[in-house]
Amino acid sequence: MKTLNFNILEFEAQVEDNHDFRDMGYSNDLLKKAKEFNQEFGLPSDDESLMALGFKPFFSGFCFHHFDKKTGIYHSRIVYTPDFFKVRDLSCRAHEEAHAVCFHGLRPKLTKEMLASGYKLRSRLSEEDFCGQAGLWVLNKRGLEPEPFMLIPYKIRFEAAAKRFSQNQTTLALNN
Ligand SMILES: [Zn+2]
Repeated sequence: MKTLNFNILEFEAQVEDNHDFRDMGYSNDLLKKAKEFNQEFGLPSDDESLMALGFKPFFSGFCFHHFDKKTGIYHSRIVYTPDFFKVRDLSCRAHEEAHAVCFHGLRPKLTKEMLASGYKLRSRLSEEDFCGQAGLWVLNKRGLEPEPFMLIPYKIRFEAAAKRFSQNQTTLALNN
């Protein structure tokens, strides 16, 4: 057995030795990090394959995960872009940590801790919304106010970000 530590969530849990979680820290180039991760595990790492796997260039953070059938090891890596605003930084990092928590089968244990702290958490949340709530929980624990957009359900926020991104791409294309 070993212990996995999730710094921003202030959460740790015991897992079997075949779980490997790493916090890769800040990066201004998530696409490059995504490529490195996929190359490490012999997965397709061209832009198109990464987009097909769910990677989006407008992400502010990402949790890569992969179960290696050959070794039987569950690998996860988180990475996030630097954000000067503390509440955005904390909630983004907690969000990505929560994805890793889910991947390593620790969501029930984290849910228990969130509820035990008095935080009101709805049951039956999608993983994205659960991670969104984890992002709000870390602010709540620290007595910090979330920004209004953080209270919008993840799906709506995600679609808005995707739309903004594609509009920007079009504008760039027209300007070039
Ligand atoms: Zn997410």
